[in-house]
Amino acid sequence: MKRILLSLAAVSGLVASAQNTTPPKGRTSPTGYTDTPVIPGQKWRVHDIERPRPRVVTPSAKPAGPPSDAIVLFDGKDLSKWLSHGGEQNKTTAPAWKVKDGYAEVVHEAGDIYTKEKFGDMQLHIEWAAPAEVDGTSQWRGNSGVLLMGHYEIQVLDSYNNPTYADGQAGAIYGQWPPLVNASRKPGEWQTYDIAFEAPRFDGGKLIKPGYATIFHNGVLLHNRKEIIGRVEHRKVATYLPHDAEEPLALQNHDTLVRYRNIWVRRLTPYDQP
Ligand code: MG
Repeated sequence: MKRILLSLAAVSGLVASAQNTTPPKGRTSPTGYTDTPVIPGQKWRVHDIERPRPRVVTPSAKPAGPPSDAIVLFDGKDLSKWLSHGGEQNKTTAPAWKVKDGYAEVVHEAGDIYTKEKFGDMQLHIEWAAPAEVDGTSQWRGNSGVLLMGHYEIQVLDSYNNPTYADGQAGAIYGQWPPLVNASRKPGEWQTYDIAFEAPRFDGGKLIKPGYATIFHNGVLLHNRKEIIGRVEHRKVATYLPHDAEEPLALQNHDTLVRYRNIWVRRLTPYDQP
């Protein structure tokens, strides 16, 4: 009996859809509610009419371009938003990395570069290319790194058919977590990292919340809000040392000629900020 009723309903549904396939026009819906329950742990009701609407951000007209609220750190023209250390006194200098044809390239013995502006929680888009000519092995193939807050390295490496330790390949949280997959393009091809980063929090000298990173490599997920266990280390277990709430973003000079272009960040703000 039940089956018959169901099939009757199905038939009537078919008949109805055959008669009119166009949704009705002019339907209205409330723009919010004042009589719904409060969401546990929040100050707002479900569908609260008073809850601030998120501000409008205009996405870039071209893919991976900076949206309207991004801070563009390198647009292919100059490294004026960046600094470096150099010389015998290790003084602060303008970066000596080469800028050419819309990209910035590591220069032998020119040091890391880091941003003048400081950042904590952020979304970062960055594009990089390992040298087209393969030279060396393992960690000497197109090694650089995105140093979040100057301390937490997301590895940049030519990991296309390049055997090396898992937690040191492209997209690794270096020395801590290998990427979930190897999404590398061929050497010389441009690659993207899109990173959502939650900065660690310190109370005086004490860590109260570790950092977390979500990372896409060429659009493929490598880490899903993965906990960072400390400052980057080579052959040692990473640990945290306290630092400010915001620190410069740095790019590592590992003495291989890695290129960068189209670098932008967005400061991440809490919910309910109109
Ligand atoms: Mg590196």
